[in-house]
Amino acid sequence: MSIERVGVVGAGQMGTGIAHVLALAGIDVVLEDIDPDALDRALRTISRNMQRQAGRGLIRDEAIEPALARIRAVREVDALRGRDLVIEAATEDESVKRKIFEELCPRLDPQTMIATNTSSISITRLAASTDRPEKFIGLHFMNPAPMMQCVEVIRGIATDDNTFQAALDIVRRVGKTPAYAEDFPAFIVNRILMPMINEAVYTLYEGVGNVEAIDTAMRLGANHPMGPLQLADFIGLDTCLSVMQVLYEGLADSKYRPCPLLVKYVEAGWLGQKTGRGFYDYRGEKPVPTR
Ligand code: NAD
Repeated sequence: MSIERVGVVGAGQMGTGIAHVLALAGIDVVLEDIDPDALDRALRTISRNMQRQAGRGLIRDEAIEPALARIRAVREVDALRGRDLVIEAATEDESVKRKIFEELCPRLDPQTMIATNTSSISITRLAASTDRPEKFIGLHFMNPAPMMQCVEVIRGIATDDNTFQAALDIVRRVGKTPAYAEDFPAFIVNRILMPMINEAVYTLYEGVGNVEAIDTAMRLGANHPMGPLQLADFIGLDTCLSVMQVLYEGLADSKYRPCPLLVKYVEAGWLGQKTGRGFYDYRGEKPVPTR
């Protein structure tokens, strides 16, 4: 099945990045969100990021205008009729996603595939809430989508071979590398990354090191491009906590228990870069550790 027309539901951080990479690969995109501000922001961000890529020589200047012309930002679910594939990248809340599928499915052609970008919710369970579990798959783009090379591809129990092959094809067509993951809590990347971040928070909580020492140790001692606490602030501490909760509940193993200090930061509303404060305070000229 050839995929030429794609719908993206949710124009937040991830939907914006996904629309960006699809449009650059020559694919026609309808980007849908209930929030008009999110749509305006998305179009501005895509244009700015494409210019930045051109400035670094990653794409040609002449590629920008036609790519932007391939993206239509809309508020109506109806505009997703006639798409070959719809990628859901809305808020990480199962009830929100279920409601989206309920409204979306009756408007789609029977052969249209649905993918979800969820970081942690069961693909099989989401698929079961649609009228087409065999045409449903997980396509987990990483943040920021235009920069990150890997996309995890996750089959639900009912996903058929054609859908799986079409998903692998689209990932390769946008210039990314697929990594196949089974449908278990948090898949591969977050299953490994989040416990490491959680352990870094425990290391801080137990006083083994302060924020600066922990991040320096992992940057220079393990050659990580960012320290784990800096990375946690970038991802969002609420997101980190919610993935740890999914691992803890889904695998019923105490080794995944979220660190109480992570819970405390989230309860304080110190969610990282997006709220101006997390393990670092971003409100001044340069980030200052908060512990
Ligand atoms: P976000 O909060 O930046 O954006 C979510 C968007 O969904 C918002 O613009 C919101 O208005 C929109 N939305 C909510 N309800 C909607 C509805 N009914 N119809 C249409 N749009 C609706 O979130 P995000 O970080 O872009 O995450 C989106 C998805 O991608 C989540 O499932 C998340 O787990 C996953 N994800 C996030 C990251 C990350 O690092 N942030 C990485 C990989 C995957």
